[in-house]
Amino acid sequence: MPGRPFVLEETTWKTVKGTEYQVAILPWGATEAHNYHLPYGTDNYEAKHVAIEAARKAWDKGARVTVLPTIPFGVNTGQLDIRLCINMNPSTQALILGDIARSLDGQGIHKLVILNSHGGNDFKMMIRELQATCGVFISVINWWNSVDLKKIYDAPGDHADEFETSVMFEITPDLVLPLTEAGDGHARKFKIAGLKNGLAWAPRSWTQVTEDTGSGDPAAATREKGIRHLDAVTDNIAAFLVDLEKADLGKMYE
Ligand SMILES: [Zn+2]
Repeated sequence: MPGRPFVLEETTWKTVKGTEYQVAILPWGATEAHNYHLPYGTDNYEAKHVAIEAARKAWDKGARVTVLPTIPFGVNTGQLDIRLCINMNPSTQALILGDIARSLDGQGIHKLVILNSHGGNDFKMMIRELQATCGVFISVINWWNSVDLKKIYDAPGDHADEFETSVMFEITPDLVLPLTEAGDGHARKFKIAGLKNGLAWAPRSWTQVTEDTGSGDPAAATREKGIRHLDAVTDNIAAFLVDLEKADLGKMYE
């Protein structure tokens, strides 16, 4: 079976030579514990799946987009005391992002979308810095965000919770342990009111927050909810990719 032309890992030079790719999509995940029942690569599987499915939908509408290989390491400075959580510092990520953007820039591909899958990754400042020196229009999507999670899930949390478990039931069902194996994902809040209510923000020390490494109870997860979520977000992201592919970068404002 020939490779899909919107998945770079599967694409030959023969295809690339004959295709005017306009948009590159960079899935970016993390390698970290996800409660007892989800694999360490959860964020990577999610990022890759959503990127490819959104690209497929955009390609079918005529947009020439390509999904780059997934970057498998995220910012995990708060999880360094959990075995095999692998941290990649923001400064390292900035160097990697810069190298990728400059590669594309020199090849005439001037639109790059980061498809982020990990809450600890924050690309905004990196994009601001790169914008000044690189001719690529870079934008970032936190893939799970474009729908109201409360409309799909009973009790969405923020890590290895009902929503991540539901989507993994669809993406890699063979890698999800039965929910009877999972912890309840109870996450302790900060004691100080300002940090608890969002007035102030600080990163959390994960092993002090949670016993099972999860944040949010996965008990109500189902594959059907995951399918609904994935369908909705890949529709939204595909529509964005189609618009971005057509956009004139010199005329981006109303
Ligand atoms: Zn995750």
